Formats: sequence, structure tokens, C-alpha cells
Amino acid sequence: MQRPAFARWLAQTNDVTQIFLSAGQRPDLINMAGGLPDPAVWPVAELSAFAASAVSDHPTETLGYGPIEGLPALRDALAARFSTPELTLTRANILITTGGMQALDLIGKVLLEEGSLIAAQTPAYLGALDAWRPHAPRYRTMRLEDPDFAPATAFAGAQFAYTVPNFSNPTGRLVGLDSRRAMVAAAETTGTWLVEDDPYGALYYDGAPLPRMLTLSGVGQTGTYAGPVVYLGTLSKELAPGFRIGWIIAAPEMIAALTAAKQGADMCTSGLCQQIALKAFESGLTDRILPDILSLYRSRRDALGDAMASHLAAHLDWQVPVGGMFFWATAKDPALDTDRLLRQALKHGVCITPSSVFDPHGEDRRSIRINFTLNAPERLAEGIRRLANAIEATLAQ
Ligand code: PMP
Repeated sequence: MQRPAFARWLAQTNDVTQIFLSAGQRPDLINMAGGLPDPAVWPVAELSAFAASAVSDHPTETLGYGPIEGLPALRDALAARFSTPELTLTRANILITTGGMQALDLIGKVLLEEGSLIAAQTPAYLGALDAWRPHAPRYRTMRLEDPDFAPATAFAGAQFAYTVPNFSNPTGRLVGLDSRRAMVAAAETTGTWLVEDDPYGALYYDGAPLPRMLTLSGVGQTGTYAGPVVYLGTLSKELAPGFRIGWIIAAPEMIAALTAAKQGADMCTSGLCQQIALKAFESGLTDRILPDILSLYRSRRDALGDAMASHLAAHLDWQVPVGGMFFWATAKDPALDTDRLLRQALKHGVCITPSSVFDPHGEDRRSIRINFTLNAPERLAEGIRRLANAIEATLAQ
């Protein structure tokens, strides 16, 4: 019997993605591939206390099945947190998800059929490409930094547009205010859903945060938000990824469709984790720990930038990111194939992520993504020295 879907999944276990996703398991390797936080930022004592009291104070909500949409109190807390004078959010605008990854998966389920078109900021987040791959969509790539980028043309005919405006994964790039406004206007005129994926929105190291497209889209609306932006948030980068707590903020109609899809996925997100998340917001813990996270990651961004300037300038071009978790560096020499570089890098004891996995068409082999949040400065510098040797070895092949 032919099992094409099974064969496709099985084939995926051998590809380049698996190589770098398993990098964390080799202790001799300096892992600069993943989007991983430093465990040192996790407020372990406070979270342990929240976990203990969550079960004893709320046994039904933490140990039973909860509402599919999420705990009402957490949805209310998020509605309040994201509302602004221009943007009115209520519980009906919020769906709690099992991490941001589930939000991407549910969006695929409710909007895609085989061959559907997605207008995606490119290079694009690998997790999103993975989530949507089973639907076999087509991609229209969007390069937002291109002076000719015209959102209304790009969005036309697409089921949705996908962007990570704050410090894109993988490029670390910030989308400017004019482009944000232009994309919101295009979503409104074309009727295309605009997915604003924002896990890094709190991680600004320089300058004031730009307004979310969700907020821009609320301007001029009265009553509960009903616009085209589908905003995705997560606790993973601001608190800890292990809770698997994310949220979608969107028009009530979209929340209703996504809720129906979530029923068939996991019925509800862990009530224990939702209670802990609620406590983390209500007690001010998430806001309190942010300055320390920012100063730690800012200093690592600077350390990585210095090491790259010392060792990689002959071979790669990059811009220093103003936030997020990544540098994106592009080979000066087109002969430097970054899939091949990954294999050399592993031999030299360092792991980075090659651009091919972020290209919806799998073709780009000119760039790499380098993470700076997981490792201390000395280890980042050693990783970059190893990477420089791996580049020399790849070019000599
Ligand atoms: N979107 C982007 C752009 C990301 O970088 C990530 C995390 N790597 C996610 C979504 C999902 O994160 P999580 O499932 O941990 O919330």
C-alpha cells in the first residue's frame, strides 16, 4: 500500500533541519543555532511557588479539563494588557494556545487548502513553514526591505499574509512604521488576514518599541476589535518556553473558527500552565524580570557583534540587530554554500542555521542565522572562531 503522507514525514527526519534541531544534544558543540533563552533568566523560585499554590488554590481549573478558549481570567488579563486607547479588546478576541507554534498550526488548519497562497515575509520562520507544510501551500515571497515592496499587490489572492515585524526569525530585522502602516492598510483594502507573529516584541535593546500592527489596525474602529490582524503572542521569550503558553488576538469570528480547530487538536491548553501564566502577569513578575533579560541579551548581542567583526568580516556581511535573538549574515562569495558550511561547522564544534530552511522554496544557500542569547560571551567568541575556521574549510573544499 502506498503511504505518501507517511513517506513525506519520514523523509523529513533526514533533512538538514533535523541536524541543527538535534545540535543541543552534543555537549562538545557550541550551539548557536536555536532560538533558545539562557536558563539563567528563569525566575525559578517564584514560578515554583506559583505552581504549588496554583494546584492547591485552583484544583478544578488546574487538574480538570478547562474551556477550549482558555481560562476566562487569563483571557481577560491579556485583553487588558493589549488594549490601548485606540484598540478595544475583550475576552472574545483572545484564544489561549499551546505555545505560539499551535497558533501557527491552527491558522493553517482554518485558512489553508492544498495549493492555497500565503504571502510570507521571506526568509520566513521555519516553524511556520513546518506548520503549514502538510497543507502544501504555495508561497509568494515578500521582501519588506525592498523599496518596491507593494503590500496590496503582494497580498492579493493570498489566504493570509505572514510577518514577524519585531526582529524577524531568522533575520533579526525590524519592520519600520511606514511598512507596518502600509501592510495594515493593504490588509483592510484587500480583505486578507494579516498574521503578525510577535514572540520577540518585548526584546528591544535600543530605542522605543514601534506600535504593533494590531494596535495600528484598531485606529478608527469602534467597539470590540474586528479587523484583519491576527496577532500571535507567547510567554516563551519573556518568561519560559516550557509552559507552552501562547495566545491569539483577532476578530471574534476568527477566534471562533480557531477555537473549533483547537478542539480537534488538544481540547485545551494545560490549566496548570495557564494559572501560572496568570499569576506571572498579575503579580508583575513578567514586567519585573524584563530589564534584567534585556541587559543580559544586549551585552551578548554586543559580544557576538564584536567577535563577528574580528573574525568574519572577510567572508560575511550583516547588520547588528536592535532586538530579538539573532544575527543574519550573508556570504560575500556566492561559492560559499551555507548547507555545506553547516556540515563543516559541526565538524569544527559549532552549530549555526543555514538559510535554506527559512526559504519557502528551499533554495537560498547564501546566509546563516546565529543566535546570541543562549551562550556567555567567551563561548560566543569561541563559537565564532570555530565558525571562521569552518568557512575557510568550506571554501577550500
Ligand atoms: N514564531 C516565531 C517567529 C518564533 O521564533 C517562535 C519561537 N522560536 C514561535 C513562533 C513559537 O514559539 P513558542 O511555540 O515557543 O511560543
